[in-house]
Amino acid sequence: MDDRPNLSRSRLAFDQGELAYDFGPEHPMKPQRLIALMDLLKTSELWKPDDKQCQLPIRAATIEELKLIHSEVYITAVQLLSVPEEIDAFRNEIETETTHIIMRELAEQYGFGEGDTPALPGMHDVSALITGGTLVALSAVMGLPEGGTFDSEDERPLHVFHPAGGLHHAQAERASGFCVYNDVSVAIARLLEEREAKVLYIDFDAHHGDGVQRSFYDDPRVMTISLHETGRYLFPGTGDVLEVGDGLGRGYSANIPLEPFTEDDSYIEAMNSLLPPLVISFAPDVIISNHGCDTHAWDPLTHLELTLSGIRAQMRLAHQLAHSYCEGRWVAVGGGGYDAYRVVPRAWSMLWAEISDQTLPEHLPEEWVQRWRPLWLKEAELEEEVQVALGKAPGVASFPTTFLDRREDFPAQSRRTTITRSNSRTVAFLRQLLLPSTVRKAFPSTQRISPMAGIFDLLHIRGSQTPSRIKTIESPAGPLLLRDFCPPSLVERLVPDSGLHAFARLPEREHQLLLNLAKSPDCALALAHTPEGEIVAQVTLAPGDDWWDGFENVYEVTIEVSSNWRRMGIAHKILDFALELDALEDMILFAMGLSWHWDTDNLKISVHRYRELIARLFGSQSFEEFATTEPDISMEPGNILLVRVGKNVDQLVVKRFLDRLLSTPHLARW
Ligand SMILES: [Zn+2]
Ligand SMILES: [Zn+2]
Repeated sequence: MDDRPNLSRSRLAFDQGELAYDFGPEHPMKPQRLIALMDLLKTSELWKPDDKQCQLPIRAATIEELKLIHSEVYITAVQLLSVPEEIDAFRNEIETETTHIIMRELAEQYGFGEGDTPALPGMHDVSALITGGTLVALSAVMGLPEGGTFDSEDERPLHVFHPAGGLHHAQAERASGFCVYNDVSVAIARLLEEREAKVLYIDFDAHHGDGVQRSFYDDPRVMTISLHETGRYLFPGTGDVLEVGDGLGRGYSANIPLEPFTEDDSYIEAMNSLLPPLVISFAPDVIISNHGCDTHAWDPLTHLELTLSGIRAQMRLAHQLAHSYCEGRWVAVGGGGYDAYRVVPRAWSMLWAEISDQTLPEHLPEEWVQRWRPLWLKEAELEEEVQVALGKAPGVASFPTTFLDRREDFPAQSRRTTITRSNSRTVAFLRQLLLPSTVRKAFPSTQRISPMAGIFDLLHIRGSQTPSRIKTIESPAGPLLLRDFCPPSLVERLVPDSGLHAFARLPEREHQLLLNLAKSPDCALALAHTPEGEIVAQVTLAPGDDWWDGFENVYEVTIEVSSNWRRMGIAHKILDFALELDALEDMILFAMGLSWHWDTDNLKISVHRYRELIARLFGSQSFEEFATTEPDISMEPGNILLVRVGKNVDQLVVKRFLDRLLSTPHLARW
């Protein structure tokens, strides 16, 4: 009898044929990493090869499917370069001069020349098989016929792990960074061809997920988030913070470049400050995550210096986000990882344990260690030479015996404080750039400390003796109550109107955002609700983010009106109500509009028209448009910065404020 109750909805997709993805013994990407992984899964009994309940059979992607991402001419070139005799001719120069030149040019033109991704015999077949694996995995989780048939909906896989997948550098018309066909891009494209869906791709590999990002750079149905070692030092050099997408896809590419030697704590902080709010504001139907474990400190190619604790935090967060926001739909792919024996098998066994809700044993099975340690020792000498050549310190000369890492093997970096600070700045900038302010305030970053005791203190209304103000207004759809400084107990009693979903896409999630805002000690929440208790509009006042560090009285104003209650003048009335207190004359208030944050879906108007509406709305409260060189605001003509300087604000502070607007601190950094 199976004593693992949750396994039936978690599948591992692996086919022996995938081991043919082999660039030779000297290449850093070794199929041995998958053999060692499968061996560890079996010997540790985390996965049983004869148990059909935890397997997902795969097939190769067809040419038609590959063509959803790759050009026909590229696929043909890959097929030509896959034939062993042709490659031998190319390598050994035994053919005629002409054949040689043609094959060499073909290889160079499509990314198989000198360097990372040499052409290998049979590479079309094996690359198509790996691509098919991810395609079948995503189809199974999304209920497409390609994913297989299941007796009942309860048996359909909820989570699938495809370790050979994650060839994220492959481009439409070029092989790159050990990657021939882009399995994740093809799988997503196939899904979107079949049905409307919103797909979130999270790339934890140490390298930027450039291929997947490029495939969907202008597509708002796919959000790509990549955490990686900054492209200043590492292949492929892209993944800058300002790569946010293009056209309709603007705001749907998120890049989190981290410093070399980031280590676990700073990595986890960056991840936790950005991923949950990004996921809530995108509201995906499914998550695909790339678990490249080349982030590990023992990896010979990179420098992020994580341990398996940091890597496990990635897996746990992806799993939790899938259950919180996607009804559990989750596909995990392997990706990079070049310490083939010490890191990859442990990291991805841990991933399988996470996916299938199994407890990870403390120790690695002795027989597995006995089998793989000698292989590692044999290669370690060569490995060490490579590491020294790449500027890495020689690795710890020990083979692990536990699943998790031992702290003592990973001494702290000397520049930890500086590196952490630099990563925190990147995160603060990205939060402002990518997150609508309501979401940002509802998910405060762990670093952020309010510049002052809070607006409640300033307005002298903290405490129960000064309850919310209440005002009744008439609207074409009936009377509404306006209240400011709403406490959490009030927000809990109210319910969101069905059209209140501008930032979290669903009214119940929007309600959760408002509750978070009400609980936040430095935010002031004003609401408009019906006498029956339905929330139809909100205005939030909150301290400006890190960009305004050094200013005590700069506050950000945000507003939202339910899509069922628009064009009734409610926005004007609630804004007027929220901003009429005399104490606000001591403050500089600003409202920032980034066009990709705006909820224009139901309005059927352009962002430029929306910009005009916002300018007019805030203009009625004496806000003026201000020019700024802050790149996230000035990078797009649809964006806007509106400011109201209170009558009592000191002129020196105003001057400092204006200087800050034109100081481009982030441009100087990037
Ligand atoms: Zn990588
Ligand atoms: Zn689960």
